[in-house]
Amino acid sequence: MRRGRVSSGGALLVALACLGVCRADILGGIVSHCPAQSPSFERVVAQLRALQMSPRVEVATIGVSRQGRPLLQVTVRDPEVPLESTVRVFIIARQHGTEASGTTACLALAKHFAESQGELEQALLRQLTWVLVPVANPDGMVAGRRNNAAGADLNRSWGTAAQAEVKAIIRAVEHVRPHALVDMHELPASSSKAAYRDNFIQTIGPGSGLTASLGQECKSASARLASWMGQVGYPLRVYYDTAGENTQLCHRYFGLARRIPSYLFEAKTGGGRTLVSRTRFHVLGALVVADSALHRHYELPAEPQVASVPLPAPPAEAAPQGPPVVELELPRDQETARGELSVVAKATPASELAYLQLQVDGVVKALATSAIQTFPLDTRVYPDGEHRIVVQACDDCGRVLAEAAVTVLVDNRQEAGE
Ligand SMILES: [Zn+2]
Repeated sequence: MRRGRVSSGGALLVALACLGVCRADILGGIVSHCPAQSPSFERVVAQLRALQMSPRVEVATIGVSRQGRPLLQVTVRDPEVPLESTVRVFIIARQHGTEASGTTACLALAKHFAESQGELEQALLRQLTWVLVPVANPDGMVAGRRNNAAGADLNRSWGTAAQAEVKAIIRAVEHVRPHALVDMHELPASSSKAAYRDNFIQTIGPGSGLTASLGQECKSASARLASWMGQVGYPLRVYYDTAGENTQLCHRYFGLARRIPSYLFEAKTGGGRTLVSRTRFHVLGALVVADSALHRHYELPAEPQVASVPLPAPPAEAAPQGPPVVELELPRDQETARGELSVVAKATPASELAYLQLQVDGVVKALATSAIQTFPLDTRVYPDGEHRIVVQACDDCGRVLAEAAVTVLVDNRQEAGE
């Protein structure tokens, strides 16, 4: 296995075999730079300007907001390595002015990689460039509101690209030509939408009319994201986009329309989730996406060159575990399904179980890390008739350990007529 381990304290120990570097508590180191309270826009600008003291950092103004505030892009890299020879990860944060943790995640990543003398960080920067836009909507941030000063929701503005902020970021992405792109957001504390109840990631799904390699790359990275989030203790679902979906959303615009492996990160707020905890979610996600891009673009040795970090011993009372079994439940009144359908999947836990994935008619639609999971499914996007729902229990290499299937009869005609 070319991957890291997690200590009993939850610290992330990254083992990047391709770099010949075994371990470092990189996640803890990065998140230690996150403040308890969200900094003001002026403070963010001052922090970025201060980082320019490091020879690894370049801060550029890539545009201005409607009210004239700078759109800042910070690049962190090894100045002795040509930019073109590195894997470039582009992160966009705070399209919605009130969503603080993407900004703090970018600041913490920039500060850590600008200053660290750690062996792992230096080795990473010989192959990796971070390009970060910590505040995509400065006017919204200063006004304490979601939309920009023109009243536009920037994350519904990418296909048309009429907003100044969006235009500037598209130009910047075209210039950088990143290997992966992340768009960081936060979810409200309460929402009527079932999909918004906890952290989720959305990316391009395999199949469904997109290039196979792009779908496979995003699927493989999201399986690693789910596995890591599960190990570090974050509940996570992954939802997959398919061809033909609305590209006004940033990650779909860059993913579906521009063919860059792109990921939407949504960190849930409320329920005692602190700014530091939400920042940690985004930072971990960014590290896993970067690691996946590196593994894809550099040839790896067949075997790790270093010993892997030992896992903590299992609790003494742990019973031996057999292979997992998956069971599916549908609410009794939904054998004929209309509207939103809840598919409840229960897997018996097993040491190899990393995640459950939901397929509809052979297309992977979602992925979740806990052994008992309710998948919300909107049947209105499917034509009336029979559809095959399959839930598979997978290990962290994506191998299917067990599965269960059910056929539902979708019938939304009555609802449409009401
Ligand atoms: Zn948002």
